[in-house]
Amino acid sequence: MNVILRVACCGKSVYKAVLSDFYLDIESQVKSALTGDLPSAFIVDKECPKCKSNMVKKISKHGAFLGCIKWPECDGVRDIDGNTTQDKTIETGHKCPECSNILILRDGKNGKFFGCKSYPDCKKTAKVGEDGNPIFLEKKNTENAVTCQKCKKGKMIERSGKFGKFLGCSNFPKCKNILK
Ligand SMILES: [Zn+2]
Ligand SMILES: [Zn+2]
Ligand SMILES: [Zn+2]
Repeated sequence: MNVILRVACCGKSVYKAVLSDFYLDIESQVKSALTGDLPSAFIVDKECPKCKSNMVKKISKHGAFLGCIKWPECDGVRDIDGNTTQDKTIETGHKCPECSNILILRDGKNGKFFGCKSYPDCKKTAKVGEDGNPIFLEKKNTENAVTCQKCKKGKMIERSGKFGKFLGCSNFPKCKNILK
């Protein structure tokens, strides 16, 4: 209730600051909240993961989410299904193959995908497989790779061996051409 009370007691400037965080379709809800009758759709039956206060539906440019009613004092958030982002992090438990961090589920334009928690430092991503496990796309490696000089069919792709990284023909074991 703090947001509403603060708005009611502190006047127009706060009212505007609050409104700037909502899209216009929320504006009417905020207005009616200001006049006393809080729509049931506005407050949700979830407790803030940080301070256990009530949570309210909010809209950001990334979509709807639940925010702590004590915002901005408390920045506790959940996704619109009531899951905390932390839950998601634990859910995957998959290690990023490029760095020591872990992969978390993210929402993209084309649906869910795995992204490294170190993003934007690490841009490793993976598709979500049917079993829910990450599928790493190694396409780029072969697209930019040079064609094997020996068999003229395979691509020289990076491999790791006993003595470190080297380029090996993708036609291996048929073609054993390697470049160091
Ligand atoms: Zn909170
Ligand atoms: Zn990474
Ligand atoms: Zn070859």
